[in-house]
Amino acid sequence: MSKYDFTGTVKTAARLRQSEKCALDGLSLTDEYENAHHVAPKQSGDEGNSNHDWIGTEINCVVLCEQCHKVAHEDGKWKKGTVAPPTYFPYSHGGDKSKHETWATELQGKIDAL
Ligand SMILES: [Zn+2]
Repeated sequence: MSKYDFTGTVKTAARLRQSEKCALDGLSLTDEYENAHHVAPKQSGDEGNSNHDWIGTEINCVVLCEQCHKVAHEDGKWKKGTVAPPTYFPYSHGGDKSKHETWATELQGKIDAL
């Protein structure tokens, strides 16, 4: 258990934000709540610092199909230990590219400030 584990409410909100599409490949999700992915990894935060609480909230949550969840983590390893950045998930807001770009910029700013 981590302070940053997503609640069911967070996962549902992220899934609806994505129009129930996988945030990576844009295909329809079935029942993939278990593949709620932390864009900034849980271990990147200091649980004692309330400025990091966003790590467990919707802004840091993308819902992926099982296959894409594996791909996201493997790509992270390929990039010398870094993780896939927000821009890696083009369907973070379903088909809304403008909202995706706004979200990616805001989240990347938070990640850079960790
Ligand atoms: Zn997918």
